[in-house]
Amino acid sequence: MKISSLATDAVWAGEEDLLLTGATTVPISLGVAHGYPDVEAWQAVALGRAPGYIYARNTNPTVEAFERKIQALERAGDATSFSTGMAAISNTLFALLKPGDRVVSAKDTYGGTNQIFLSTLPRWGVQVALCDTTSPEEIEAEIGRGCALLYLETPTNPTLKVQPVARLAEAARRAGALVVVDNTFATPINQHPLALGADLVIHSATKYLGGHADAMGGALCGRAELVRAVFHHREINGASLDPMSAYLLLRGMKTLSLRIERQNASAMTVARFLARHPRVAQVNYPGLESHPQHEIAAEQMDGFGGMLSFALKGGFDEVKHVLPKFRLMHRAANLGAVETVGGPPATTSHVECSPEERAAMGIPEGLIRYSVGIEAVDDLVADLAQALE
Ligand SMILES: *Cc1c(COP(=O)(O)O)cnc(C)c1O
Repeated sequence: MKISSLATDAVWAGEEDLLLTGATTVPISLGVAHGYPDVEAWQAVALGRAPGYIYARNTNPTVEAFERKIQALERAGDATSFSTGMAAISNTLFALLKPGDRVVSAKDTYGGTNQIFLSTLPRWGVQVALCDTTSPEEIEAEIGRGCALLYLETPTNPTLKVQPVARLAEAARRAGALVVVDNTFATPINQHPLALGADLVIHSATKYLGGHADAMGGALCGRAELVRAVFHHREINGASLDPMSAYLLLRGMKTLSLRIERQNASAMTVARFLARHPRVAQVNYPGLESHPQHEIAAEQMDGFGGMLSFALKGGFDEVKHVLPKFRLMHRAANLGAVETVGGPPATTSHVECSPEERAAMGIPEGLIRYSVGIEAVDDLVADLAQALE
């Protein structure tokens, strides 16, 4: 089944094989193994010559429905899944890189990804060049020095920097490098890295895909032979998505386009409100014309997303004073949920950094990351107004 609209795919795609009994909702298939009375049939499935399931670390019907749905939404040749977003990222890097390779990426990747670049990959003989996130020139120059894999994340966490995917993918292609993009913040409703020239797209499904902050998962989408290679690594590595989480993620994805449309619109309203507020020093939102990469964002994104961050003039003391006053906000290290979630990078994405390191990354101590929920936007603006009063 190939349906055309993203909103329709989010509801229908990937489920048809599981609805053969007349069920209208994907069953949660909890069995660890599938049995085969016929040894020849068993062997054919085990060798991958016939469709079917053997053991749940490798494949599972409910998990496969999740994979087919994200594959449809990313318009990808294939997709596979993981227990978390970090499992998707680490399995992809470990499966596709080898000692002596060189990776080019940016300083502003997700904290866990940054750890892999700074400490894990170098120990395995992989060189990593981390560039100024907003300098395509520097990234192109580093690609020119040798590059097996270009790793991008756009928009970034927590300062919402935007990278030009098509331009950088073109430079990587000339160097024969693979291009991997973390599309967690944008979601497939707002951005399609594969159409911009990426080979692979990664999601932390824990965030917007699930959308309800009650299940963890990760996904990888892209060219079939690359996805298969990472899948075979994951089969052995063991970081498989469990069927219960797959069901919750599938259920969340049904409303993905509704949620993202609302969150895109509300984030724009909130960003405009904050940009005019006297106690706010700076607002980071790619939809604002004042955003340094607004034009790139407008070109490569269909919506600017539900994430923004803003800096209070008073610094971290002011954050400690203001955050407890919010009534419509979970103060937590999560994002992309139906509820509004907020917090300072000093306790969430960049907790392991010193204030000086955060400053060097362009993260002021007064910054608050704000993940806009699906509440009525007037209520969110009123809550911000009273908290900042
Ligand atoms: C949360 C996040 C991850 C990691 O995902 P987990 O599901 O928490 O492992 C990776 N990239 C981005 C951009 C994220 O926000």
